[in-house]
Amino acid sequence: MPSKIDSSPPYVGRFAPSPSGQLHFGSLVTALASYLDARHHNGQWLVRMEDIDAPRCLPGVDSDILHTLECHGLHWDGTVLYQQRQHARYQAKLDSLLADKSAYFCACTRKQIKANGGHDNHYCRDLGLTAQAVPESAPDTRSLAIRLKLDCQLDAFDDGIMGSVDKTGALSVVNSVAHSTSSGLVEAQDHRAKSRNNSNSNDNSTSASEVTPLGAAPEDVVIKRSDGLFAYNFVVALDDEYQGVTDIVRGSDLLDVTPLQRAVYRSLGCNVPQYGHIPVAAVSQGRKLSKQNHAAPINNKNVLENIVKGLSFLGQGDYHANEFENAAQLLTMAISRWDRKLVPKIAEIIVGKHESTYYSHPL
Ligand code: GLU
Repeated sequence: MPSKIDSSPPYVGRFAPSPSGQLHFGSLVTALASYLDARHHNGQWLVRMEDIDAPRCLPGVDSDILHTLECHGLHWDGTVLYQQRQHARYQAKLDSLLADKSAYFCACTRKQIKANGGHDNHYCRDLGLTAQAVPESAPDTRSLAIRLKLDCQLDAFDDGIMGSVDKTGALSVVNSVAHSTSSGLVEAQDHRAKSRNNSNSNDNSTSASEVTPLGAAPEDVVIKRSDGLFAYNFVVALDDEYQGVTDIVRGSDLLDVTPLQRAVYRSLGCNVPQYGHIPVAAVSQGRKLSKQNHAAPINNKNVLENIVKGLSFLGQGDYHANEFENAAQLLTMAISRWDRKLVPKIAEIIVGKHESTYYSHPL
């Protein structure tokens, strides 16, 4: 009898750091989780440098991140894709969206949108603004954003790690766990994922739940910002499609924007990947470990300890650094034992305050 043909696409995962700061424990854990998930599924693991927001990127940080990944045995497939080198591809897509009226110039400010009940109400959709004929309120085309028409509802989805997520990005079943481990993970909190920083008009970081009243169509998403930068939510969809990404494992701080991102993929005609969100490492409730919170850059001299702590954070059990000769050996075992079901289904885990792995200096 012929064997059953597996029609599911081969797994392609990716780690997509923004080179705005060196890897810290939280970002290393994300890299580790997406790597283990990909390799466990015999998949490819790609690295993409998300340097689209050039003003926020620091010179040399990209090489530093790649060096840290290599030191930890996290070797990627193919070449690293830099978003800054993809402008022609992004612009070509933008031009075709404008040409077929799937996208339009928008002169609305965040203030006007707020006055509209927090929704852009598709105000500029049919005004036919063009880069040539701009209204008095926006005398310079650089102050016009470009929006993608989103003629669909946000939807709930099944997260491969967290389980059911509703259309606002909230976990349907919220677990509250407190645990303590030898590696200094002291407490896990039951906490809804927080939205990313968001203040500018027409910027790229608006959370879906923040702008979309339940049941309403989502605000048409900005794909080129008024400052001329391509928006993150646009390029991430184009890049995942371009790179054939099937599975995204990333931090739960992006849960609340995921329903919006899924709508963007659909509206652009891109395949929507499967998602798996892992807890973020946090300093205290709602404050994820970050450069601003004095996260310590990963020390490449403690490779085995770092990976062991990452595995413990991800609920994969207790490994002992002294039982392994190198990262490759440890990762081989971690790949074979990787189990998504063991990852804590919580938005964040608060890491030990006085641990040099996590902090540059005690807070
Ligand atoms: N570049 C994003 C970040 O560093 C990751 C986005 C993603 O994985 O989709 O937060």
